[in-house]
Amino acid sequence: MAEADTLRSRGNLTGSYVRPAGSDSWPPAPGTLVRWVASQPVQDMLNQGKRYGWANLGTIGNKLHLQKHGDHTGHSGGKVRGIVYAKDTVLPEGGKAALLQLCRTPDYPTGYIDFFNIEHEQYNFAGVKVGGSGDRHLHVSIRRGHELTRITLFDDIKAVLAGTWRKPVVPMPGIFTRLGFIDGASLVKLREGDPTVWLSGRGKRARVVNMEELDAIQDFLRSRSMDDAVKPVDVLTGTVVL
Ligand SMILES: [Zn+2]
Repeated sequence: MAEADTLRSRGNLTGSYVRPAGSDSWPPAPGTLVRWVASQPVQDMLNQGKRYGWANLGTIGNKLHLQKHGDHTGHSGGKVRGIVYAKDTVLPEGGKAALLQLCRTPDYPTGYIDFFNIEHEQYNFAGVKVGGSGDRHLHVSIRRGHELTRITLFDDIKAVLAGTWRKPVVPMPGIFTRLGFIDGASLVKLREGDPTVWLSGRGKRARVVNMEELDAIQDFLRSRSMDDAVKPVDVLTGTVVL
């Protein structure tokens, strides 16, 4: 199956245009109908950017773009006819630094990036500045040969911004399942008397059975930036859950 058909079968964004009068001499000739479909990296950026509410400034270009033969067309010079290779996006604060961090991480794959523009600078896939640009927003151009490549670029930028990128996931101890919630849970024990530690909150408490479980709970709370201290209380409250 040709790449464009595969991309259509995946449900990627599609459309068509007629090459406008006044176009450059690059094929196709003015008046030609061009059906296009978003390359997979462009589609993935569309989906991920939408999820995070990052403004999409477009994939297929306006008349001025269509008169030329760049990546915001379905007839980009040197690329596969009928596939769109570029998307424009407004990244949130810190997005440029996060993107450059990813590109400069040796084992993070960015080989599908032809180049990108942001804040009036142009960079290659490795995050090396190669020139200036008229774009303030993020423009990503995809390299030929990566029409079908699935990417996680915007998910990873989001994770870098959140401080969770490549952070190991701490497993959730089963006691939270018994309690039925995570946010609002805290560790308590009686100030005097019984040294048993409880995970408590929302009118419930579950008994922590040993030090190993306590360590696991505290690791998990810290991984969520929650207080992991065992707080002394005068009275234990809440229904005991088993
Ligand atoms: Zn652009």
